[in-house]
Amino acid sequence: MQITEHVHALRIPFQVHLPSGVTLERFVYTFLILGTRICLVDSGVATSETVIFETLEKAGRKPREIDLLVLTHSHPDHIGAARAIREQTGCLVAAHGAEKGWIEDVDLQSRERPVPGFRTLVGGSVPVGRSLADGDEIDLGDGHSLKVLHAPGHSAGSICLLYEKERALFSADAVPVAGEIPIYEDIVESVRTLKRLRALPGVDHLLAAWDRPRQGREVDEAIAGGQQTLQRIHSIVTGLAGKGAPGNPMELCRKALAAMGLPPALANPLIARSFLSSLKVKDGRNLFKA
Ligand SMILES: [Zn+2]
Repeated sequence: MQITEHVHALRIPFQVHLPSGVTLERFVYTFLILGTRICLVDSGVATSETVIFETLEKAGRKPREIDLLVLTHSHPDHIGAARAIREQTGCLVAAHGAEKGWIEDVDLQSRERPVPGFRTLVGGSVPVGRSLADGDEIDLGDGHSLKVLHAPGHSAGSICLLYEKERALFSADAVPVAGEIPIYEDIVESVRTLKRLRALPGVDHLLAAWDRPRQGREVDEAIAGGQQTLQRIHSIVTGLAGKGAPGNPMELCRKALAAMGLPPALANPLIARSFLSSLKVKDGRNLFKA
């Protein structure tokens, strides 16, 4: 799907096989920027290179023209096909320094952050040739560039990318999606990131990994919706803790899900970790103020 003159969005469906035998149907978006040089934002899960390369061929371009792969962070659905793409195109891989360790050693990541189906979602480790930091400019050729925004919260080294010339913001997993249970490491950082994204001027296209592309007024509505989701979770979790809820993280997670009207059976350690980050907030009174 073409979004702007140079940006194309690819929706990549995939399955996650849970240990319980249940199969989850999921999808993730990756983005191609087709300029004089070709930049890919995130790689999708393992084997996504097939659909990415097909999209390029249909647009009259060649896979080997990809010269940069920017990974917004190290999670499996973003880095899964990175190794195959680098091997087949020779592209440079760029990511924030804080994500480098888990991208360059996926075995380490699967030990430290085990997620169901990790081995089928990730094709292998890949070297990060360029470490990105907040404020960096990524040259796309012909006077086009991406601005790197460090966007911690979902993960320590998550980044968003601002493509000012085409008024597009690649937000990766920074904005919680309405109706989904958000995953984040640090609610304070997540809220700060959302405030920063919401204040950016001139964004007409919000391009997230887990949501369809949003345009115009929908951009602010989507980010505001993400803020409301975090506020609701924070108030439920701190409320439960105030009532002397169980110290067991999974139990607290199940209770919080139930209070949100969601099945407690959805609880898992990643969600528990997200919710628990609310209990580390020393003074949350100003957290959600504009
Ligand atoms: Zn993620």
